Amino acid sequence: MDFQISGKKALVCAASKGLGKAIALALAGEGVELLLTARSADLLKGAAEECTQAGSPKVATHVCDLTENSARAQLIEVVRKQLQHVDILVHNVGGPKPTMALDTSVEEWQKGYEQLFPAVAQLNMAFLPEMRKRKWGRIVAVTSLSVLEPIAGLAISNAMRSAVTAMLKTLADEVAADGVTINCIAPGLINTDRTDALMKARIEKSGQSQDDYMRDYLKSIPAQRLGDTGEFGAVAAFLCSQQASYVTGSTIAVDGGKRRSTY
Ligand code: NAP
Repeated sequence: MDFQISGKKALVCAASKGLGKAIALALAGEGVELLLTARSADLLKGAAEECTQAGSPKVATHVCDLTENSARAQLIEVVRKQLQHVDILVHNVGGPKPTMALDTSVEEWQKGYEQLFPAVAQLNMAFLPEMRKRKWGRIVAVTSLSVLEPIAGLAISNAMRSAVTAMLKTLADEVAADGVTINCIAPGLINTDRTDALMKARIEKSGQSQDDYMRDYLKSIPAQRLGDTGEFGAVAAFLCSQQASYVTGSTIAVDGGKRRSTY
């Protein structure tokens, strides 16, 4: 299916690897012009080359730590210069530190907030007005299954991503009549470096062998496997498509059926 977004312009955050890069590649395959951002210049360069090979007509990169206010302000200037306007905005950033709610200090809650919330608000404020004027826009935020079902040991993710989701749901209502859709995409467990690190820590804590732990863990996923980054990117690209114009204010799980609720 042609998603009818060829020639659109997208800013993809945290796109040097993992889920962000997967979304960038899926958009590249649809002929979208891209600006990719993350902290690592080398990884970004590699991701940009892959996006060009995947079919993007133009790929720019900008090194930015999305948790820093001044770096975000600079990013906004660079994006305006390079892309002029943004049709598609993909929110993503590295995951917060795993903690138990009981053990999380005020400073850690604060850091989690700084990591996950302000970038979404600031980039929306920068690029939404033009989307509304043009009567077309797509905003997709990578969140987590933790929003739909809190995950033990990921207290900061559970709390802060829920706040981001509520903020975006509120905003989606305010701009839906202008042709701008805003959705969240909630990964269950997709095969990335972050997943690898999280699983290694859990296996170490469990005292089980890797094989035994993974066999037990995969029983909790009806698909009985981890997701592939390509499967995740494809769903995000669909949410950015012309065809998804009536999907807004939603959280779409990409989790192999792991979520237990019916909604
Ligand atoms: P990943 O493989 O570790 O990739 C993280 C990406 O974020 C990298 O491109 C990294 O690039 C970038 N990044 C990290 N901190 C940044 C910062 N301060 N500023 C700018 N870019 C930053 O992680 P992932 O698995 O793709 O996960 C992406 C997000 O989805 C995370 O928030 C994660 O918690 C969440 N999530 C993932 C899964 C999953 O199954 N993979 C499940 C639930 C939730 P640089 O290091 O170059 O900056």
